[in-house]
Amino acid sequence: MTDTKRFFTDRILTWNRAHNDRNMPWKNEKNPYFIWLSEIILQQTRVEQGRPYYERFISAYPTVNDLAKAPEEEVFRLWQGLGYYARCKNMLAAARSISAAGKFPDTYEGIAALKGVGAYTAAAIASFAYNLPHAVLDGNVYRVLARYFGIDTPTDTTAGKKLFTALANDVLPENQAGIYNQAIMDFGAVVCKPQQPLCKTCALAPHCEAFQKGLTDLVPVKSKKLTIKKRYFHFLLLEQNGMVWIRKRTAKDIWQNLHEFPLVETPAPADLDALRQTAGFQQLVPPKTKALEPGVQLRQQLTHQTIHASFTRFSLSPDFSLPADYMLVPAGQLEKYAFPKIITDYLQR
Ligand code: SF4
Repeated sequence: MTDTKRFFTDRILTWNRAHNDRNMPWKNEKNPYFIWLSEIILQQTRVEQGRPYYERFISAYPTVNDLAKAPEEEVFRLWQGLGYYARCKNMLAAARSISAAGKFPDTYEGIAALKGVGAYTAAAIASFAYNLPHAVLDGNVYRVLARYFGIDTPTDTTAGKKLFTALANDVLPENQAGIYNQAIMDFGAVVCKPQQPLCKTCALAPHCEAFQKGLTDLVPVKSKKLTIKKRYFHFLLLEQNGMVWIRKRTAKDIWQNLHEFPLVETPAPADLDALRQTAGFQQLVPPKTKALEPGVQLRQQLTHQTIHASFTRFSLSPDFSLPADYMLVPAGQLEKYAFPKIITDYLQR
């Protein structure tokens, strides 16, 4: 290891000894099941949002066997609001495979083979639970490494991933992988922040390329810009004798396996008159059925999509029926089903 690299690693560890106070319930945890749960929950989720879910999950399922035995619908309900439901499905599949194997895997390769576990999560579990020498690479680590070493190779390219993976493993200290991995992520979150990093008081500043050359706003570099798609969802609350029509979303799309009210999606904003002209609406609501009240508009921001949703209530005549993939459930028992956040937000109003 070069002197610049050794300086980097030593300063990160020294900083951590003085600042190991980022309060997270899974920190310093050694139980691989708890670490794995926290890492799955935190994929694409902020720490503050993930914390209550983590606590609910370990209280409902104290062991991986408890989670493996749980009915899918119950686990989905506990997950409700976290989004990215494929994560929940993979988590349950992984819990069942661990339970069938009789123990949590204790090698990097065994952990990486679990469903829903990528390179970052495998390195985090392997190092936190077993102190195995695998460096984590998340957004915080990319940023700290790119700035300190002054690297402008885009982090989202194959070449960038290779370069940063090699560098991250090169600066990993011997026998301290778990502590160091947590330390560098904390350092990125608290000191080398995306905006306004605390360079003036940073212990790495004397050798930090980005700071020395005034490049902190320019690295790390990404090659692709995130494109956000707008979607227009029109949920129809079709009531019939105290019952409501719902169905399970089975298509490979957002919210797969969750439930929803009958839905018409339009390529552009549409009011009720425009909606009535669509084939989707005409299949679900008989002609001339009046809306019970003005529609409610809600919006949800996902990472790659903005959902503009409207909710409109209708009362259907008792003899009308929907296609076979819909089911009629008592209006008072909707809480038994897992819905996307935007629908639970509507129901809570
Ligand atoms: S000096 Fe600034 S840019 Fe460099 S590592 Fe420290 S906080 Fe980050």
